Amino acid sequence: MIRIPCCIIGDGITGVSMSFELAKNNIDSIVLQGPKVIEKDSAFLNNMSTFQSGILQSFKYKPGDFSTREFLKDGTPKVADYLFHLQSSRTKLNSINDEISDFISSEEGVLNIPKKYFENTLKEKLSILNFDKYSKPLDEDIAKGLCGRFYRDDGSIYINIPDTTFDLDAIVQLLKKEILNTKDPKPGKTIFIPSQTTDINIKKQEGQYLIRKDGQAYLAETLVLAAGFNNDKILKLVDETYEDSSTSLGFVLSLTPNVKNLNFKAPFFTRVSAGETFSTCKHIYGINAHEYVLISNIPNNDIDFNNSYKKNTYTELKNIHDKDCSLKRDSIVSRIAPYFIDGDKIKNSSFSFCIHTSGNRKYEPNYNFQIEENLFNIQPGLATNCFHLVEKTCNKIKSRLTTKNIVKEDISKLTELALSNHKDIKNTTVHSLKQRAWYKTYFQ
Ligand SMILES: Cc1cc2nc3c(=O)[nH]c(=O)nc-3n(C[C@H](O)[C@H](O)[C@H](O)COP(=O)(O)OP(=O)(O)OC[C@H]3O[C@@H](n4cnc5c(N)ncnc54)[C@H](O)[C@@H]3O)c2cc1C
Repeated sequence: MIRIPCCIIGDGITGVSMSFELAKNNIDSIVLQGPKVIEKDSAFLNNMSTFQSGILQSFKYKPGDFSTREFLKDGTPKVADYLFHLQSSRTKLNSINDEISDFISSEEGVLNIPKKYFENTLKEKLSILNFDKYSKPLDEDIAKGLCGRFYRDDGSIYINIPDTTFDLDAIVQLLKKEILNTKDPKPGKTIFIPSQTTDINIKKQEGQYLIRKDGQAYLAETLVLAAGFNNDKILKLVDETYEDSSTSLGFVLSLTPNVKNLNFKAPFFTRVSAGETFSTCKHIYGINAHEYVLISNIPNNDIDFNNSYKKNTYTELKNIHDKDCSLKRDSIVSRIAPYFIDGDKIKNSSFSFCIHTSGNRKYEPNYNFQIEENLFNIQPGLATNCFHLVEKTCNKIKSRLTTKNIVKEDISKLTELALSNHKDIKNTTVHSLKQRAWYKTYFQ
């Protein structure tokens, strides 16, 4: 049996940034990686890879939400705090690794919104958040230049929004690279253990967690669940009575070749108006004729599974919600096609249905976080939330650990384990869009 200060289950953005934070604080950890067979359950491998930073999502809150008791409850940050965390995530990311900034767009997105809605609500929210510089609508010429054919001369207004795109998959890979960097090693060690199967057995033992995986036993002082969609199932393995209050949401997406002369300059464009809501991103990997745009329903049109995901697998949920997908697909196609010269191409595009878990309040970053003193269930809802959550988790772990490091002999055993089946490590390389599970499913 190998004794470890912290075991992290899951190697998405949450698991990887958790191990990074621990290593910085001289705490050793192991990360049990997801086996290839569950690639499809992973939010970061399943979706579009070019993301919005998430600030836009919080505009769906009503201005009154900023002062309600709900948001002031113990342990629940105010929305303004939440936005602050989103903004500071970008700064944190940039400081981790020089290359990371190449994968975060430096430009801001564009929002097209009916004048009335802007005047009545959005302006107020922007000023509460001290985003006053975004309260001035863009000049017509600038808006036209940024939006290309997405510009509509219909009296609505165009504003920049404090939101941008980033490549989540690339960032996960660069974080791993930084953690494993031998030239400038972190004070703590992280060992990524590849898995062959999903089988895992966890028991509480004298206030710690005894984890059996692929024939190896680990005794962990702290356990962090970072397996996204699968967290709930793992939580139940630890103790049947633990309740996960998260929900799961579905998105409909299409990656479409950027058909002729789109002239779309903004990293992403969101249109919010009655009956016409969608969001589109320039895909980071495409250039000129090969450029892709990614189209999706916007966040407040997600499909909410009402916790049914706790009983179903990812694949079952996808099947159950196929009809929602085709309904949304048709409406997205009819709204988006007029923007393209070759609109018919969009009609023939494959649309994908993706799922990710979120908070009990949509996009709230802080829920179900500490189940026991030494058991953490982290589902950030948005990737951008996880930097704030892992910092918080690390502080809690730091304050209670009795041993921060793994003994030398066990490090050698773990290294062997890590290397013995490393071919099974999910291979998501920074530059290959085609590696992604989502792309494979729909384009090959
Ligand atoms: C279509 C779509 C669009 C999105 N858009 C945005 C956006 O614009 N902005 C934003 O900030 N966020 C966005 N998100 C949310 C974002 O993807 C997630 O919040 C984020 O990826 C969650 O990270 P995670 O590491 O917690 O979980 P995941 O990305 O799901 O990673 C979990 C990892 O755990 C592994 N795993 C699973 N089960 C096990 C197991 N039993 N043992 C070991 N390992 C296991 C998986 O293989 C995976 O690698 C979007 C999500 C989707 C699906």
